[in-house]
Amino acid sequence: MINFVDPERYHSMKATGKLPSPKGVAFSIIKLLQRDDFRVADLVQLVQSDPAIAGRLLKFANAAAFGRARPIVSLQRAIVALGAFRVRDLVIGLSVMHSHTGGQCATFDYGAFWGHSLATGIACQELAHFAQISSEELFTVGLLARVGELAMASLYPDEYAEVLVKAKEMLHDLAALERECFDMDHHQLGATMLAEWGLPDMLIQAAYHHEQPDVAGFRDGSRVQTLTHSLNFARSLAEVCMADEEARWSLLPGLLTRAARLGISGDALNDMVDRMVRRWREWGAMLQVRTQEIPPFAEILAASPPTRRVSSAGPEQHGQTASPRLHVQLVGIPVPELSTLMQQIESLGHLPVLVDSSADGLKQAMRQPAQIVIADMAMPGLTPAVFCRALRQTPAGKESYALLLASPGSEAHILEAIDAGADDVLVKPLSIQTLRVRLNTATRMLLLREEIQRERRGIMRSTDEFAVAHKRLLREALTDALTQLPNRRHGLDFLASEWTFAHANGLPMACLLMDIDHFKRINDSYGHAAGDAVLRQLADLLKRASRVEDLVFRYGGEEFAAVLPNAGARAAVQIADRIRALVERYTFLWERQSIPVTLSIGVANLSGADKDSQALIEAADAALYQAKRSGRNRVVVAA
Ligand code: GH3
Ligand code: MG
Ligand code: MG
Repeated sequence: MINFVDPERYHSMKATGKLPSPKGVAFSIIKLLQRDDFRVADLVQLVQSDPAIAGRLLKFANAAAFGRARPIVSLQRAIVALGAFRVRDLVIGLSVMHSHTGGQCATFDYGAFWGHSLATGIACQELAHFAQISSEELFTVGLLARVGELAMASLYPDEYAEVLVKAKEMLHDLAALERECFDMDHHQLGATMLAEWGLPDMLIQAAYHHEQPDVAGFRDGSRVQTLTHSLNFARSLAEVCMADEEARWSLLPGLLTRAARLGISGDALNDMVDRMVRRWREWGAMLQVRTQEIPPFAEILAASPPTRRVSSAGPEQHGQTASPRLHVQLVGIPVPELSTLMQQIESLGHLPVLVDSSADGLKQAMRQPAQIVIADMAMPGLTPAVFCRALRQTPAGKESYALLLASPGSEAHILEAIDAGADDVLVKPLSIQTLRVRLNTATRMLLLREEIQRERRGIMRSTDEFAVAHKRLLREALTDALTQLPNRRHGLDFLASEWTFAHANGLPMACLLMDIDHFKRINDSYGHAAGDAVLRQLADLLKRASRVEDLVFRYGGEEFAAVLPNAGARAAVQIADRIRALVERYTFLWERQSIPVTLSIGVANLSGADKDSQALIEAADAALYQAKRSGRNRVVVAA
């Protein structure tokens, strides 16, 4: 469900004239398409009046007509090919972009915002076939997915500048900070704007939920879910496009995970990203939006990680964080090849660990596998499939990256090894380049696994936090705020369940109802605050005076009750009288004055005749009334 901005509030925000909005031709197109009887000819005429927009539409139409023999040259044809509503959405996106390339908010990077938004839009187009939505519509939703942030910056330039700094420095959730500060967030504001401009509901849903597609609650496999995931992926691709080299590396695991979810990987992913980046650069130049040059994606993936990212968990490196070294266990490598391989691994900055090829050595390796295991398929004593299967039996072995080396001619066994759980197989002889790429792949896989673990821990932590918050709310709902005793509702529930238990098992139990004598006078002579202090002190005293199995609660005003499970008539009277005497002797203090307090107490015991717990408390109330009538500061037992 989308939580739109309240219409009245939105109206007054619009009235300030600061809200980003489609201008000129775009505005006229929105108006035109709101009419049921609009004609395409009118639309063509409107678009023609803005040559920049007309030119871009032609380009879009030709990009959409991928594979068409002859290019579309007439605007009329272009508009018919795209469809009137897509034209509208495209023009809205382009118009908003063009009229908001700068602004007042000091920490809002307008150039980066549009560079990122354009990249998201272009990446979305690449994903159109997944969500079965036209690529122009996806372009618009990608371009405008973050328009709420732009609007916040336009509406509240100074406050939002601070919010952005805070979100970045403290790694706070931006939307949460916005809600705290403005009582709405950019998701809400953006969705409200897109709805006003007439974009289709599904696109608005996707924009609203795209930062956290998993919490949207969309039906699995639905189009809107696929669309939202696609937008989420497009956005993380845009982040990779805008990031510097170092930041880019840390974004890769998240990007690969998202791509894998959509079923895009390997060469298809590389091609897609490269094509997208090319088009982003091209469109950026045309629309005067900031872009930057990015190496081919395959190269980004094969590059060495910046050193500080990979955590090394080797035994000798305990406590060190700076080392990028991974432990690479070498299993069953023929002696003549060993020293070259070890040198290669060292030259790539990793630590080779030799495992001796005896049966014991192999067992040891499988029991304590390193982060990366390189094993020769011709290892003595074990078939590669058996080795891999054994490796994958332990938790550590499941986590490590298993790379097998095959001799030329042994390709027949490669599939077998992969089936048994190997991550990769290389045919010898190995070049240093091949090894570098494969070890980088391994590093990336390990990072991904680490990231998944981290995410899982994060989810578990938030579940815990939720449970704690839930408990706190529950406790608050059952506690009296002034005295911190259980409140009436909690106390009566407890009484009812104890009554049922005692009644069913033929056990004794009792209930006390206690009322402060002449409490009104205390309020009148010392003030209401003094009265409150007396209530709090009495509550503490009653808590201390009761047995662990008893429950004392605030019944209301200056009345308290106690449920005494398993207390017979004699015990109940004794307890009541002890409390009465204790209160009489106790020094209640208010601003260094002592206030004399006494209690009247009614006692009721479970009798076979009670029909429910309510009858028990009514009997105690009647006894309390008698205690008041006969002079106060006394205990009376119900007849
Ligand atoms: P009695 O001996 O007959 O019980 O006389 P009383 O004055 O204690 O009884 P009454 O019911 O006439 O007055 C109770 C007073 O308790 C009235 C009310 O203003 C006061 N009171 C109820 N709740 C609170 C509270 O939370 N704080 C304070 N300070 N006073 C309260
Ligand atoms: Mg009273
Ligand atoms: Mg009273």
